[in-house]
Amino acid sequence: MRKTVIAGNWKMNMTPKAAGEFIRALAPEVKGKDKCDIVLCVPFVDIATAAEAAKGTNIKIGAQNVHFEEKGAFTGEISAQMLLEAGAEYVIVGHSERRQYFGETDATVNLRTKAALAAGLKVILCLGEVKEQRLSGITDEVVAMQTKLDLAGITEEQLKNVIIAYEPVWAIGTGLTATPEQADETCGVIRKTIAAIYSEKAADGIVIQYGGSMNDGNAAELLAKANVDGGLIGGASLKTDKFTAIVDAANK
Ligand code: PEP
Repeated sequence: MRKTVIAGNWKMNMTPKAAGEFIRALAPEVKGKDKCDIVLCVPFVDIATAAEAAKGTNIKIGAQNVHFEEKGAFTGEISAQMLLEAGAEYVIVGHSERRQYFGETDATVNLRTKAALAAGLKVILCLGEVKEQRLSGITDEVVAMQTKLDLAGITEEQLKNVIIAYEPVWAIGTGLTATPEQADETCGVIRKTIAAIYSEKAADGIVIQYGGSMNDGNAAELLAKANVDGGLIGGASLKTDKFTAIVDAANK
């Protein structure tokens, strides 16, 4: 009953012109492949062009971050309303690169998630353990804690607009992928945590993606796992043929 969601995270790649060209090339390749939702999370300045190119297609557009205040003296930040008006439907919050390089904490991830949901955006909430935590055997505790902190104060109704992306930090951009079993198990821990905070119904309904070097070669076996409801894809979302192959794997 959960719909698979395949989302690309372009990170700091592609100019507005390149974004438009990419989406016009991708659209015919993924047309009618509706067993999954398809989202491209693009740089802020690409959103308007990307949304225009995606009009009338099954590709939805997202941003990669959002500020938690509605407006004001926050130089360089972008509000949820700005994203919506530019044409974004989704926003990534809490990506590990924001946590690692830009001081993002569970507290600010929580604030951003609340602001995005209040404005009407759908949130792709990223969380996951670092290598030392996996090696120390505390992955389950780490992802359960992140899930609780990042979703604090968010209602079960609001949760319907949240996708969780389980992204082991050691697997992002490294070419190392969690095994399908590891991905399934940890997505399962997140689902159980959702059941504990909210309800079994909420846990059954929430989409939990895997992210971390997912590509055209490994997507099918990762997506085949019961607790893996899609993928958040970095590197492989920058090539139309690779991204299409992942969409194809989700449509089998
Ligand atoms: C990501 O940026 O969320 C990601 C998973 O990147 P990659 O697929 O390149 O590991």
